[in-house]
Amino acid sequence: MGRVCVVTGANRGIGREVARQLAAAGDLVVLTARDLGKAQKAAGELGAELGTAQRSADELGTAQRAAGELGAAGKAAGEVGVEAAQLDVSEPGSVERFARDLRRAHGRVDVLVNNAAIHYDTWQRASGADLGVVREALETNLLGAWRMTLALLPLLRESAHPRVVNVSSEAGSLASMGAGTPAYAVSKAGLNALTKILAAELDGIVINAVCPGWVATDMGGPGGRPVAEGARSVVWAVDLPDSGPTGGFFRDGEPVPW
Ligand code: NDP
Repeated sequence: MGRVCVVTGANRGIGREVARQLAAAGDLVVLTARDLGKAQKAAGELGAELGTAQRSADELGTAQRAAGELGAAGKAAGEVGVEAAQLDVSEPGSVERFARDLRRAHGRVDVLVNNAAIHYDTWQRASGADLGVVREALETNLLGAWRMTLALLPLLRESAHPRVVNVSSEAGSLASMGAGTPAYAVSKAGLNALTKILAAELDGIVINAVCPGWVATDMGGPGGRPVAEGARSVVWAVDLPDSGPTGGFFRDGEPVPW
């Protein structure tokens, strides 16, 4: 049976590709976005893509796993496929509703990927920052991940092999921190700290921070590496064994200095 995986901010960019890679490997992915229509569109597209790939594999007689009936139609046959759900990680009501629906639908969560983030604020300096922007970045990038972990903790406790992956950034590394992107860098430094603290507190849950590297997305802009590579860096931490590592900060499976 596939794992039940929740990915935040999965309608585009790295989150969407993480959802694709997990579903392609046979997991059930709950593809979430703050706009339900965007979640449904992405889930439908991934479902069609994976369904096509599955049919080709079947024709060749090499299929290893069923991709299920995918997309916005709702729950796939068995614990495989892609489901769409509305989730704004900065809205407590949205997170609570999502957790409630998830419990009703699946009764557990095996994997939480806290991917959603905003405000790569290259336009400002800490010494002249707009604190409204800083507050928004903290609300989504740090508190959003924290809120999601708290809300889904009871469901993660129902899993035999729970994983939490916080999609962070080297911009949040104190070891390489310099001037610029203050809202983003502080939010990711906070996310890194949260990762270490939660890992120390939560026995039995493998929880790590991952930098996807510089990736060509709306946030990363052109010139970064392909989104598939960034997502693979994240999926590496999803696929860690129960023995860990846990409480670390990684890119492409290698430790990144805090
Ligand atoms: P994108 O800007 O392409 O995508 C961000 C995603 O987050 C979108 O789906 C967006 O939804 C969603 N989102 C934003 N706010 C919320 C919210 N309140 N609730 C739910 N979803 C929300 O970013 P990337 O794919 O590039 O980044 C993904 C992760 O990787 C982030 O954590 C980022 O910090 C990290 N990262 C990226 C790097 C890069 O080079 N790209 C480098 C290092 C780290 P919507 O479409 O509605 O806006």
